[in-house]
Amino acid sequence: MNLTTFDTASSSVSRMEAIISRCNAVEPKIGAFLARDEKDALSQAKASDERRAAGRALGPLDGVILGVKDVIAVKGQRLSCASKILENYVSPYDAHVVEKLKAAGAILWGRLNMDEFAMGSSCENSAFQKTHNPWALDRIPGGSSGGSAAAVASGECDAALGSDTGGSIRQPAACCGIVGLKPTYGLVSRYGLAAFASSLDQIGPMGRSVADCAAILQTIAGHDERDSTSLKVDVPDYMAALAEPEKPVTIGLPKEYFGEGIDPEIRAKVEAAAKFYEGRGCKLKEVSLPHSSCAIPVYYIIAPAEASSNLARYDGVRYTRRSAAATNTDEVFSLSRGEGFGAEVKRRILLGSYALSSGYYDAYYVRAQKVRSLIRSDFMKAFEEVDVLLTPTTPQPPFRFGEKTDDPLAMYLEDIFTISVNLAGLPGMSLPCGFTAAGLPVGMQLIGKPLGEAQMLQTAQVFEKAHEYASMRPAL
Ligand code: GLN
Repeated sequence: MNLTTFDTASSSVSRMEAIISRCNAVEPKIGAFLARDEKDALSQAKASDERRAAGRALGPLDGVILGVKDVIAVKGQRLSCASKILENYVSPYDAHVVEKLKAAGAILWGRLNMDEFAMGSSCENSAFQKTHNPWALDRIPGGSSGGSAAAVASGECDAALGSDTGGSIRQPAACCGIVGLKPTYGLVSRYGLAAFASSLDQIGPMGRSVADCAAILQTIAGHDERDSTSLKVDVPDYMAALAEPEKPVTIGLPKEYFGEGIDPEIRAKVEAAAKFYEGRGCKLKEVSLPHSSCAIPVYYIIAPAEASSNLARYDGVRYTRRSAAATNTDEVFSLSRGEGFGAEVKRRILLGSYALSSGYYDAYYVRAQKVRSLIRSDFMKAFEEVDVLLTPTTPQPPFRFGEKTDDPLAMYLEDIFTISVNLAGLPGMSLPCGFTAAGLPVGMQLIGKPLGEAQMLQTAQVFEKAHEYASMRPAL
């Protein structure tokens, strides 16, 4: 039984050609891709057709066309992280997930736009271009994996890879009406993912259905010794889990996620989804995550602190662009970084260096780590009583360009419902749960127990199957 929306019956070359002409038609309006190599994609498609004709298909992803966020390394392709500082950097190796996907026969298609170094919630921090929301072209697609979300929603690829440090897969998925999944920390190797905040970053799938994401997760999950935080676990059979008969679960509704600041239409949609589950025999239970209000402040200590250290490698000496104006070593560092990084990245480096500086380290970084464990224990306590949690993904529908660019705090609040999940290392996903009266997509978030992806996916699929949202497409 094929649960995914992937069309593996048609020839890969004809599907790749169709996607190329789709991109040529809609990219001028969307702007999801930073780069596309048609020749390379067609030769991958040709190889897929040859394998299949010889009866040597590599599995369910053979010939599936996947876009890649520009933060994940593909050998021989540019890896810019949407930053000027890496503008001309070509990756000499494949990320672990890319090795796995190539071995599964997937066609890797293009480099997708993002906020610079994955810092942002709107794609407006890309050094190169704007990406438009396919449902409303004057609005943001979300971020940082906004190019991935927009490309999937507008049919420019079958699915895509994103990365999520504080919400960057789930928030754009919600904004663009698609499904996006952030795995349990450590389930997917970070080898070949340009590091933002190493204790939070995870790569994950973004697709048009729950099963599409499950099929990709199945392929990319699993131990990799090149990532010291990679978990040594057996990867469950997610596709088999999705084929099992529906079984009612206990769903927790964290009361802190339905309070002030949430758009009334979004709240109504997520509450309607809870009612839907109740009608399917699930038990609903209000739970409390009392440290939720600390999530944003804790994240904006830990993530910038780790970023300031990770981004120290972009120094103009090795693989980054070197300032032409530099006349001595100090200037190579300062001018290259000054010219190469955008404003938000600089802000994070300053915040992070401050939090880590001597005299402040205990007051900020160490204390933030302590509160981080309280946030995780809140979740673990809730999971003693419930199987999954249901929350909104974003506090608001996708906003207009420029609406939050002058107010970093307003932008940071965009991730208020997603950030805790990274701090706690849990799996979380967003799936479409309706549209606002103005026609903007609304996403709901399911949060699973550690390594509870299978149950989270099953729960998501029950909702998806009973609603038409996942099959709706923007009119472009
Ligand atoms: N918007 C958040 C930030 O700017 C999260 C980004 C992410 O998940 N990569 O840090």
